[in-house]
Amino acid sequence: MQNFHGLLENEGRAYSNWGLSRATKPAVYAEPISYSDVQAVVRDTRRFPAPVSPVGSMASVTSTIVNDGGTMLCTRKLDDVIGLERDETGRQVVRVQAGCRLKKLNMWLQARGVELPFQAEIGEASVGSVAVGDTKESSLDGPGYFSAHVVALTYVDDKGELRTISDHKDGAAFHQFKCSFGLLGIVVECQVEVRPATLCRSDISIAGFVSPEDLAAGLLRARGECDALLAIVFLHQLASFLDQRHKAGPGSVTPAASQPACDEFRVAKRLAIQHGFEGVEVPQPKGLVYSRADLVNEYWRPTADERRLDFQYYEHDLSQFTRVMVESYKFTKAFQDETGYVPNGWATYFVNRPDTAKKPFGLYSSGKGVSFSFDSFCSNPADPRWVRFGKEYNKLALSLGGNVSPIQTQWLQRGDLEIPRMLARPRFTTKYYEQFLD
Ligand SMILES: Cc1cc2nc3c(=O)[nH]c(=O)nc-3n(C[C@H](O)[C@H](O)[C@H](O)COP(=O)(O)OP(=O)(O)OC[C@H]3O[C@@H](n4cnc5c(N)ncnc54)[C@H](O)[C@@H]3O)c2cc1C
Repeated sequence: MQNFHGLLENEGRAYSNWGLSRATKPAVYAEPISYSDVQAVVRDTRRFPAPVSPVGSMASVTSTIVNDGGTMLCTRKLDDVIGLERDETGRQVVRVQAGCRLKKLNMWLQARGVELPFQAEIGEASVGSVAVGDTKESSLDGPGYFSAHVVALTYVDDKGELRTISDHKDGAAFHQFKCSFGLLGIVVECQVEVRPATLCRSDISIAGFVSPEDLAAGLLRARGECDALLAIVFLHQLASFLDQRHKAGPGSVTPAASQPACDEFRVAKRLAIQHGFEGVEVPQPKGLVYSRADLVNEYWRPTADERRLDFQYYEHDLSQFTRVMVESYKFTKAFQDETGYVPNGWATYFVNRPDTAKKPFGLYSSGKGVSFSFDSFCSNPADPRWVRFGKEYNKLALSLGGNVSPIQTQWLQRGDLEIPRMLARPRFTTKYYEQFLD
């Protein structure tokens, strides 16, 4: 028998996600402190009952962390940034453990003059989760989802074996693994491609529109004027916050000339996201030159009586932009007329899709092109009107050809999403994921 040296809890405690919208009571909670610990958990079916389901920071909004009666394996203590190196194909990569948070990784890379093109607002997400799960952001000169940059990874398979796979040695099997949400194995380490650090110049503004068609045209115009656009749309008010990002040359440190404006903007944006954009104001600086690593933020774990972000994720092809805005506006206005409730806003990111060979399943898998996300959000995940809105809007989004995520879209039903059964092993498959396997 292999010994387990990490922390163990098996006295019936419940664990919640960041937004306190989901809770679960695993039979065992395990915090490994070595890869050998992860192997010991997977191998010992008596002490660690199936399914064994990995978590990182538990920042996901869906039931993906729910594993009542099983084994929750949390990677938070496997969080070293091991170092920069050249892989066998000559690419510069960072070798990092799965439990490392994205803010920690970004700061480490920034200090060495390199960066990941993916620099989403969320600093808490763990490398392991985003290497095999769904993400989105409006990247400068990059695809806009984290796993695209992962070129090799080490995982513990369902027999407890430690395996390393890479794009150049394993091709299709590697790309499939990155679509597996932890159902094929527990990621313990990744090699992620980096590039020399660059600066970004942002123009922040708020714009009003006269109709949903005008809103859609305005957002597309704004996107055309810059290198990457993040829009926070206040749909019911036909208004939008716009962050128009431009490439601003090499550099890893926010220039002194951009302070204190950059930090004021960062703190205000962080608070706005923490609170689901409720009762907060964000400044509108123009020509702000900064390192995007600085704008990756950490969020405190809220209490149940605090305003806190909750959201839904939907991916659409860019060709559907106007239709999605118009239909979503109609739906939202009708919901508002009936209930008096509307989501606080909708986050809109633009993601560049690769060939299907590189992203065979799930989000961004429909071949080269551009996707956008149109993600409703609120400041109280427990509000029953938000829950009803989300459930009903899911149907509309799917009927508009939208794709959804088991990590980022809540209240999905069997059939809304399909994960190929070959991407799952019984040792790792929770009830939540079982319903999506086909
Ligand atoms: C305030 C806030 C802001 C956010 N902003 C963004 C954003 O800008 N962009 C974005 O894309 N997302 C955003 N998110 C969502 C978040 O980034 C993702 O849900 C992310 O996956 C969370 O990482 P985690 O470590 O907390 O994963 P967890 O919630 O801990 O785990 C989620 C799932 O990942 C899988 N998993 C976890 N660890 C491993 C592992 N080691 N090996 C294999 N599988 C594993 C499992 O299926 C697990 O159920 C935000 C969330 C919050 C709360």
